[in-house]
Amino acid sequence: MDTKVKDSKNPSGPVTLKSGHKVWVDRNLCIGAATCIAVAPKAYVLDEEAKAVILESADEDTIENIIESAKACPVAAIIIEDAQGNRVFPK
Ligand code: SF4
Repeated sequence: MDTKVKDSKNPSGPVTLKSGHKVWVDRNLCIGAATCIAVAPKAYVLDEEAKAVILESADEDTIENIIESAKACPVAAIIIEDAQGNRVFPK
């Protein structure tokens, strides 16, 4: 598995995906539940603080599945905007 983070300076994002969507994890909210990883194992991994970071291989996943992973997070810590800066999730 590729565990290289997409942006080493901002491991939890914001990062811009292939689709143009911007994704980040609010590290203050993330409780390390790893539900996002169960839904999108190519997109996230937990770091040493048990906070989700965004992997380079997130671009191999579909934006639909990334949005599903954000919806699956029990504390809504994953935030997604479209290429125009409109909030996709959470609304
Ligand atoms: S599902 Fe949410 S709380 Fe759990 S690791 Fe992912 S971002 Fe963090």
